[in-house]
Amino acid sequence: MNTRPVVLVFGGTDPTGGAGLPADIQTLTRLGCHPAPIVTAITIQDSHRVHGYEAIDASRVGMQAGVILKDFECSVIKTGMLATAATVQQVAERAQRYRLPVVVDPVLASGAGDALADDDLLAALRQLLLPHTLLATPNTHEARALAGGETDPDAQARLIADFGCRWLLITGTHDEADDKEITHRLYHQGEPVRTFTQPRLPGEFHGSGCTLASACAAFIAGGVEMESVIEQALVYTHRSLTRAIAPGKGQLIPGRFATE
Ligand code: PLP
Repeated sequence: MNTRPVVLVFGGTDPTGGAGLPADIQTLTRLGCHPAPIVTAITIQDSHRVHGYEAIDASRVGMQAGVILKDFECSVIKTGMLATAATVQQVAERAQRYRLPVVVDPVLASGAGDALADDDLLAALRQLLLPHTLLATPNTHEARALAGGETDPDAQARLIADFGCRWLLITGTHDEADDKEITHRLYHQGEPVRTFTQPRLPGEFHGSGCTLASACAAFIAGGVEMESVIEQALVYTHRSLTRAIAPGKGQLIPGRFATE
């Protein structure tokens, strides 16, 4: 029988099919995993912006995850939009109970900057989920928020590691200092390990952060060591962005099933 590593994914719906759970499902499936999607919120959005969202009650999120964790042997937990502090707690409890590696995309806002989280959620991410996190993939805005407003990436990494997060990839997509290249910084327990640079692509994309974090989860589920996880996930994400499609009039949507 064919087997695929199961990745338990917590995230929001996205009717554009570009970010959130649709992005996770496409990425994980393309990279050889079986995604088990746990809905944390329903969003109302188009390719321009988020018009609103409604969080799913945390107990219902916990029930969705609970039945799957009893039935399936999951390899990795991946989180995106968690919507409420109570849902963060549900995820953290299960991560601890099942001792699974956790990949956290600390979604605080959409790519266009619309808020998808509040201060309580940020506090819960720091105090409840980072202690169980194998890898977090914040962009520069999210890293700054997780590090209490600190602006220097090396100092941010030390502060985030103090919460217990083991590996940290600060992605440079939202760093406007360089319009030609994007620099991503990888840290292990607060110490710099390596930087990765990529050419900055023209256009605005919807769901690039979700694609990267899910690709990392897929390679971790495949047993790859962390530097290669990041390298391969960045290559996959970049390729998806170069094959992006434009079903709407706003942001482009990554072509996650492109094969060349
Ligand atoms: N998760 C959901 C449900 C979203 O709607 C969004 C953005 O709109 C994101 C995550 C983050 O998307 P991105 O990968 O563009 O940062």
